[in-house]
Amino acid sequence: MTRPIRACIDLAALRHNLGVVRAHAPKSKTLAVVKADAYGHGLLRAARALEGADGFALLNIEDALRLRESGITKPIVLLEGFFARDELALIEAQRLTPVVHHREQVKMLSGAALRSGVDVLLKLNTGMNRLGFPADEFAPALKALVDLPAVNEIILMTHFAGADERDGVAAQLECFNRATAGTARARSLANSAAILSYPETHADWVRPGIMLYGSSPFADRTAAQLGLEPVMTLESEIIAVQELTAGDRVGYGGTFTADKPMRVGTVACGYADGYPRHCGTGTPILVNGRHTRTLGRVSMDMLCADLAGIPDAAVGSRVTLWGRGLPVEEVAGAGGTISYELLCAVTPRVPVVEEHG
Ligand SMILES: *Cc1c(COP(=O)(O)O)cnc(C)c1O
Repeated sequence: MTRPIRACIDLAALRHNLGVVRAHAPKSKTLAVVKADAYGHGLLRAARALEGADGFALLNIEDALRLRESGITKPIVLLEGFFARDELALIEAQRLTPVVHHREQVKMLSGAALRSGVDVLLKLNTGMNRLGFPADEFAPALKALVDLPAVNEIILMTHFAGADERDGVAAQLECFNRATAGTARARSLANSAAILSYPETHADWVRPGIMLYGSSPFADRTAAQLGLEPVMTLESEIIAVQELTAGDRVGYGGTFTADKPMRVGTVACGYADGYPRHCGTGTPILVNGRHTRTLGRVSMDMLCADLAGIPDAAVGSRVTLWGRGLPVEEVAGAGGTISYELLCAVTPRVPVVEEHG
């Protein structure tokens, strides 16, 4: 017998969520964001299921090459662009589309001897202050790229800092529209939150990430309310049951103390599987499909679940850490983080089971 933890990846749900993107932005093309190993779901697996997307976006040239080797011929965007001039020949040969976000990259492009040239996205910093040209340098940067023989098509892009929060996108959208007024080039602005909340940002290419994987980008709207289906279900089993009496404590540091007799299930899942150690007592968890809570600290390979009210729970009972029946956002919230971090953090020792719906 192998250890019972596994990550089930529901590929039909992934395709369903792509359909939700399309329903929200029917006139836009979709760049499916598959960075971070497709948010922990497996790059090639996700890209195959998302073959209906119009292109893909990720970070590493190595990952882009894996997509090309798997037969994907659609545009592949490198979201951080390139880091050195010597990458450009490969980018051109593999027809990858880098983001150009910094003057140094324009310099590298101008010094590159390319044959057919590359398509690029030119990124404007509209307030995120992470990547992109400031508004007053945008027009000169665009002109520089237009004049370069090494550059073919240029798509204009920005990224929102607060599309999921009360800040919204208004100030950043206005900055983008002002800086790009008067050019007829294609545009790309919207992440998941903007796709769902701000149709005025959809433009030519939308860039959904988290919503494809079935998680809500908003604190106040659930994935189910948005019509999204969870793609990853992290499950395991109870591997031991302890009968506690009042005063008994649970786990490292004994941070939970029983105030009455209770049954506790030990679950084969710990932080070395990617379950967040920040999730303390009270984090939601399902045992035999029933809602209960974790108890005490998460350890490397195990955590503990309260079996009160689940009398049929026993060694071998199915446990859901997140996914179907338990939104990953709820677990993330209990650990003071966001679903993105949990999905990306599942470690390679967790076996993956593909479900084709
Ligand atoms: C990660 C990323 C996205 C996708 O964001 P979600 O919130 O997951 O939809 C879109 N655009 C850029 C530039 C990104 O880095």
